Amino acid sequence: MNQDFEVVAAARNWRVDVEQGHTPQQIISEVFGQDVLSLETLRTRLSKPVFKSLQATLEQGTPLDPSIADTVALAMKTWAMEKGATHYTHWFQPLTGSTAEKHDSFLSPTADGSALAQFSGGELIQAEPDASSFPSGGLRATFEARGYTAWDPSSPAFIMRHANGATLCIPTAFASWTGEALDLKTPLLRSAEALNKAVSPALKLFGSQATRVASSLGAEQEYFLIDEDYFYRRPDLVMTGRTLFGAQPPRGQELEDHYFGAIPDRVLSFMTDAETQLYALGIPVKTRHNEVAPGQFEIAPIYEQSNVAADHQQLIMQILRNTARKYGLVALMHEKPFAGINGSGKHCNWSMGTDLGDNLLEPGATPHENLQFLFFCSAVIKAVDDHQDLLRISVASANNDHRLGANEAPPAIISIFLGSELTEILDRISSGQGGRGQEAGFLGLGSSVLPEIPRHAGDRNRTSPFAFTGNKFEFRAVGSSQSISFPITVLNTIVADAVQALAADLKARLDAGADLQTAVGALVKATYDEHQRIVFNGDGYADAWHQEAEHQRGLLNMRTSLDAIEHLTSAKNAELFARYGVLDARELAARQEIMFDIYFKTVNIEGETTESVATTQIMPAALAYLAEISGVTVSKAAGAIAGEVASAADELYAALGTLRTHNAAEGGEEIHHKAHHMRDHVLPAMQAVRVASDKLEKVVAAKHWPMPTYRQMLFVK
Ligand code: ADP
Ligand code: MG
Repeated sequence: MNQDFEVVAAARNWRVDVEQGHTPQQIISEVFGQDVLSLETLRTRLSKPVFKSLQATLEQGTPLDPSIADTVALAMKTWAMEKGATHYTHWFQPLTGSTAEKHDSFLSPTADGSALAQFSGGELIQAEPDASSFPSGGLRATFEARGYTAWDPSSPAFIMRHANGATLCIPTAFASWTGEALDLKTPLLRSAEALNKAVSPALKLFGSQATRVASSLGAEQEYFLIDEDYFYRRPDLVMTGRTLFGAQPPRGQELEDHYFGAIPDRVLSFMTDAETQLYALGIPVKTRHNEVAPGQFEIAPIYEQSNVAADHQQLIMQILRNTARKYGLVALMHEKPFAGINGSGKHCNWSMGTDLGDNLLEPGATPHENLQFLFFCSAVIKAVDDHQDLLRISVASANNDHRLGANEAPPAIISIFLGSELTEILDRISSGQGGRGQEAGFLGLGSSVLPEIPRHAGDRNRTSPFAFTGNKFEFRAVGSSQSISFPITVLNTIVADAVQALAADLKARLDAGADLQTAVGALVKATYDEHQRIVFNGDGYADAWHQEAEHQRGLLNMRTSLDAIEHLTSAKNAELFARYGVLDARELAARQEIMFDIYFKTVNIEGETTESVATTQIMPAALAYLAEISGVTVSKAAGAIAGEVASAADELYAALGTLRTHNAAEGGEEIHHKAHHMRDHVLPAMQAVRVASDKLEKVVAAKHWPMPTYRQMLFVK
């Protein structure tokens, strides 16, 4: 079999039905949002009082008036059926990290045996999917297997299309009948409320007229594309999403010529198709480009309110996955599909905005706004320092362990990059100098305490897990396949906590007679002095930093995800989440258990897959080649190569023996122990199998090698 030839042919012959007749302008104006039930559309379809009542729910967060539910449901059904929908689904985000949907037809039987299209307010507001197979972390076991979905009116309903029809998707929360959250959305919504409750009163101290505050989020998604033919010949990719074998190609990413390079034609066609579908769903995707690694790409939308952004992020992943298939490609979202080559992350750009449209992390150009900015910026610094553990935990997974700290992604140590200008401002406030900094672009305010801050204050730093990027913070440790909901839940909650503490302090200073400028100056200084250790503008990849962070600064270094998950239920964290009504102790414990469980299952599947592929494909390939050349006596080379193959095969055999033993062992009763068994025994045993297998890949004849190589997967486009 000549794989190269076959697959190159496949890559050349892909055929697509490219949608005709859309100019880019038409796409933006006509396609954008056409499959979303926006507030504007609802306004035209509801009576004034009903719409007003719904709007109050959406804009002020007042509970939905049940008496309007039937009317709203009818409007939704009519709209959806006009769009070709035959079914509806409560669309939710169970603790697996992906989305779930159970479709019901709009049709209901009537007495005369025919069917009528129906969809009541009750069906809109609540449903009871048979949810016993979703992870609950023990939350349901002690009570009942029931789970309920409840309409989240703050995220608009939308139509998902497939080749033969369409479905109305209603974003919902998912909870047990005791009201405990079984999903990722519920705590996110609760954290948004906590943030609003903490930040709105703080804003008043600065004279703001704003009445509501929400966090905004723009997530940059990285992913790989490989040819579908290759994918199906890699059982490791099919089963686990990452390659468990694969020698380094002669050329990796060292040339860095892929980054921002011209996008290959097939890929560009795929991207355009996916973007058009995303536009229809009202998802404002804006940026696309090649990433650093060969075969790696990025897509980024314009930021939106966090809850909507989290829903949209799930849809982006789903549309990318589905659309890639149309082009004979597979989109790999795994954090580390290829060893030795950059992994994929999902940078979460986060800020806070008011109902008046102000971004609270925008440095601004006036002293008043600078005071407010410095206050909120200090709060973020305090939040990240106080809760380094939670940020680390929010990105913990078996997948992300291959990426964090691998000199291509931020380290597992959480720190903040502020950039030289903002750091200098804070340093000057701290040392009592105030005023103008040395960096170019500064304008002094004529105040001894507070300088004016340029909009893009600071350079970029790719090595920092948490970076200030001009008017927002970018949390860069988030993994490419994970839901962004929990990381944002954590961010919202820890910033709410810090803002509340600082606001109380500020209020006390003002009550004691200080003027705003003096009070904020003193507060910023005190906060910065206390939390300066978390600020690091240097190279996060350097060994020296890891030493300094841990030993001089006392920052947490939770190297592996299991180290981190351990701390989720600490007294501090349980108290924090409970105080803000985000997660109670049982909900938190359930999440910890599920994180351990997913870790265990992920590595367990990898261990079993490694064992089976090595035993049934790699070893036979090595032995077949060995048999072929062993009889060749006329060539010295044959003897030498046979020796090499034999020695690597023996190494593989021994490593497989060890892996088999560890795969068979349980590691203990508790999920916690099982997960540790995976980390401490199965992962190293898998690695040993891989090392031997990769040696074989380099010497066994290509025609015998059972799987496509890195060179093929990464460079055939
Ligand atoms: P950069 O080039 O600094 O990464 P971009 O302007 O390309 O910045 O933005 C990256 C992401 O950050 C985009 O998704 C963008 O919409 C988002 N973003 C910009 N401003 C904000 C904000 N105020 N809050 C949240 N995300 C934001
Ligand atoms: Mg960015």
